[in-house]
Order: sequence, then structure tokens, then C-alpha cells
Amino acid sequence: MKIALCPGSFDPPTDGHINIIDRGLRIFDKIIVAVAINRSKKAVFEPEERVAMLRELLKDKKEIEIDSFEGLLVDYCRKKKISTILRGIRTVSDYEYELQMSLANRILNPDIETIFMMTEGRYSHISSSIIKEVIAFGGSGNGMIHSLVEKKLKEKLRKK
Ligand code: ADP
Repeated sequence: MKIALCPGSFDPPTDGHINIIDRGLRIFDKIIVAVAINRSKKAVFEPEERVAMLRELLKDKKEIEIDSFEGLLVDYCRKKKISTILRGIRTVSDYEYELQMSLANRILNPDIETIFMMTEGRYSHISSSIIKEVIAFGGSGNGMIHSLVEKKLKEKLRKK
């Protein structure tokens, strides 16, 4: 069985993330979507809230498992016995960041391979940080985030 790990902050999950995960299922039999817990990074949603949103968005796909992890990605891969990481790429700046990360991960554990999928054109401008700005300024998340995520994000930003 071919299994991949799709790690990320998912703060919040966007249609771009879901697209990469959906397309990843054409290649992999199972994908573990893992929310990275980084206490030093300021996030809008708690890790548990991000996990809950991903579970709801992907509830119809039995080949998907949602989890979270803290610490080094390579340690989590070892724990889960996974040797393939799936990441999405949008822009040249993504490429530079992803190159560094995948090389660092290979030094930490040479058995791990990172597979990259190019974003679909209509998602190339979507990032969790842009979405947060759009919603904070009263814009619509239509075509960028699921209505459930938009509702939760509006509630969060109202409280802040
Ligand atoms: P991180 O903070 O680890 O970069 P993100 O949640 O921002 O986590 O992204 C997780 C993964 O999803 C990354 O590989 C990122 O490049 C990819 N990704 C994010 N947005 C999109 C998008 N719109 N299209 C394709 N891939 C995306």
C-alpha cells in the first residue's frame, strides 16, 4: 500500500490544500494529513480546531486519516512508518522554501522522499494568510475556502 504524509499548518485549510490531497489520492492509496503544531508560530486556529475542520472537509474519503504532530517531521514519519511526504507548490518562493525543507529532511533521514505536486492554476494565488486577510476585511471566501471554514474564520476574527 502506497502511503503519503501531507503535513502543513492548515491555518485554516483552503480549497488549494484539499485539491492537492484529492489529487494525491490518484497516486497514493492512503494519505495522512498531519497538522503541524508549532507553538512559536502565531496561529488563528488551535491545532484541534484545524484537525476538526479537516476531518469535516474530508469526511467522505475513507483513504484519508487526519492527525497532528509536534516536533520534527522526520520523527513523526518514523513513528508512523511513512517514507513519502506530499507537498504542494504554487510559486517560485514556495519552491525555494520547499527545496530547503526537503533537503534538510533528507539529511535528517535519507530514506524519506518528498513528492511535489503543482497547484492547479485557479488555486495558485490561495494561501491561508491571504484568506485570513480577505475575510478580515469583509471579503468572500467563495472559490478559496469551504463555507464551513469561512463561517469558523469569521467567528474567530470577530472575537479577536
Ligand atoms: P506550511 O506552513 O507547512 O507551509 P501550509 O498549510 O501553508 O503549511 O501548506 C501545506 C502544504 O500545502 C504546502 O505544501 C503548501 O505548499 C501547500 N499549499 C498551500 N496552499 C496551496 C495551494 N493553494 N495550492 C497548492 N498547494 C498549496
